[in-house]
Amino acid sequence: MRSTMQDVPLSVGDLVRYGTSVHSRARVVTWTGGEPRRATLGEVGARAARLAHALRGLGVTGDERVATFQWNNQEHLEAYFAVPAMGAVLHTLNIRLHADQVAYIADHAEDRVVIVDSSLVPLFAPVLPRLRTVRHVVVAGGEPGGLAAEGVEVHSYEDLLAGRPDTFDWPEIDERDAAAMCYTSGTTGDPKGVAYSHRSMYLHSMQVCMTDSKAVGQGDTALAVVPMFHAMSWGVPFATLMVGASLLLPDRFLQPGPLADMIQAERPTIAAAVPTIWQGLLEELESAPRDVSSLHSVVVGGSACPPSLMERFEEHYGVPVLHAWGMTETSPLGSFARPPAEAAGSERRAYRLSQGRLPASVQGRLIGPDGAPVPHDGVSVGELEVRGPWVTGSYYGGEDPEKFHDGWLRTGDVGSLTPDGFLRLTDRAKDVIKTGGEWISSVELENSVMAHPDVAEAAVVAVPDPRWDERPLVAVVLRDGAEAGAAELREFLAEKMARWQLPEFWTFVAEVPKTSVGKFDKKALRSRHASGGLE
Ligand code: ADP
Repeated sequence: MRSTMQDVPLSVGDLVRYGTSVHSRARVVTWTGGEPRRATLGEVGARAARLAHALRGLGVTGDERVATFQWNNQEHLEAYFAVPAMGAVLHTLNIRLHADQVAYIADHAEDRVVIVDSSLVPLFAPVLPRLRTVRHVVVAGGEPGGLAAEGVEVHSYEDLLAGRPDTFDWPEIDERDAAAMCYTSGTTGDPKGVAYSHRSMYLHSMQVCMTDSKAVGQGDTALAVVPMFHAMSWGVPFATLMVGASLLLPDRFLQPGPLADMIQAERPTIAAAVPTIWQGLLEELESAPRDVSSLHSVVVGGSACPPSLMERFEEHYGVPVLHAWGMTETSPLGSFARPPAEAAGSERRAYRLSQGRLPASVQGRLIGPDGAPVPHDGVSVGELEVRGPWVTGSYYGGEDPEKFHDGWLRTGDVGSLTPDGFLRLTDRAKDVIKTGGEWISSVELENSVMAHPDVAEAAVVAVPDPRWDERPLVAVVLRDGAEAGAAELREFLAEKMARWQLPEFWTFVAEVPKTSVGKFDKKALRSRHASGGLE
């Protein structure tokens, strides 16, 4: 029997129509370093309508890709709303990638229009002449000078929007059509494209708002630190439309000092970022205290949350940390670490430090090295595979088909699942250190080193070793004025680790290299030490 229910497509257009009218008074604040720029969601909606008219004028009439090369700011949000809602495809380009990779990605996606922030023109200028499909560049936030390429028209964003209507008749769109595209940041090989559908983005936005998830609600102000080119800023901008939360956008001011300033001044309630951002902020707060008490949750994801990070935030500042796991391929919300209500004490803490519980819409299974399923007993370890309505079923263009397995996405992450649905990752498969037939988790070792009070950051990679195959090398950033050396740190680790696990290779650095989305760049670290460890 078929149901009697109406078959109404889920679309970003509906989210935009709803959010920008019903929640028109929600605030959108862009940090500028001086007086912040303030707008309402209603005003952003009106400007998104104007942008949609302008893009139609540039020939965007179907599913053309409209790319963005922008910071997290109001104009980027306008593109977020306008492009999918008008039926085109929003492609967020990662501004921190090498020019070769940006050119590769823009060509691969066949971008037609690129909206570029004026402050990023010097970065974009050398890329532009290499782009084969781009016909229009629109410069936002300043004058469009300094860009030229054959066959490409360059426009001013504000000139294009001027005089256009404040409303747009957002069309009805097939919910399975692409709304936005994002490429993985390339931590593991060439960037690969994921095309989110209207349906997946709508459902994912609902998940972001759910109480046991990120719980974004109408009373919240969300500080979107995660770049809007990194897995759609983890879904925060679209969730805003659903519930009418306010948004605080940091623009290019992502350094610890300005972040602390904007938290103190604008009092966000929720914020999400990778661990390295939060570590930087904690260091900043220690040297120059600010009031961060408005935050009722700090979401940490993208890499494992070090226990020391959770403790410092909670014990020094009373700000609860929420650990989450996800991937560009999973929209990105895959799991969220809210412990079961009955868990208390150390059990509660262990749940909170896990990668979290998979929600109803994300199924997970573990596959062992022999290809057989591994039980969800909280102990047995395998590669995590996931499926669900906001998990990609392939890469754009069909690249890397081996990442998919009978309709499941192979995550490349290794860990266990508990019977009550909590994921505990040991490591990325390629980051595990294989030494003398045993495995060392690089993440566990990093967390143990970071528990030392003198250590600000520690990243661990495998280095080749003639006798043991691989051995761990630790790159350490010490706190300002701290002096711990390798011997002291080894002694500290010896209290809780077996002798064979203790690293003999240490390097003390001013900064651990970071990827384009702010994670430890283990590829760079590995290649720096490819010829072996140093003592
Ligand atoms: P990239 O693969 O380029 O780093 P993504 O942001 O899509 O870009 O990375 C997804 C990967 O990040 C996951 O497969 C996992 O390895 C890692 N990751 C994300 N969240 C966590 C977490 N909470 N704990 C451990 N690893 C995480």
